[in-house]
Amino acid sequence: MPLHEYACKECGRKDTRLVLKPGDEEALRCKKCGSDQLKRLISRVAIHRTESDRMADISTSGTPDESYYSDNRNIGLRAKKRMKELGVDLGDAFEEKLEKARTTTNLDDLTSD
Ligand SMILES: [Zn+2]
Repeated sequence: MPLHEYACKECGRKDTRLVLKPGDEEALRCKKCGSDQLKRLISRVAIHRTESDRMADISTSGTPDESYYSDNRNIGLRAKKRMKELGVDLGDAFEEKLEKARTTTNLDDLTSD
């Protein structure tokens, strides 16, 4: 899941937000002062996002070409995405729960989708 940490440029409040598509990011508002001037922070969440981004690029329909299999980092990723599409709970969900547990102030935000 694309969880990103943002800092408000107006009041400095930091929040972890769930951003599913580019438009979501633009619609984000600071929970404290209501400003839309939020800046995405580089954090461990960004590392997590990398795999999500890679996963988003993988097609689970049809057969991947040779270059896909020649990349070791892709091992398991396609299956993981497929399982996700089927609604099977895998490690990624566990990572998200960890992330939620770390950002307890935003539980309502994270569970509202
Ligand atoms: Zn603010």
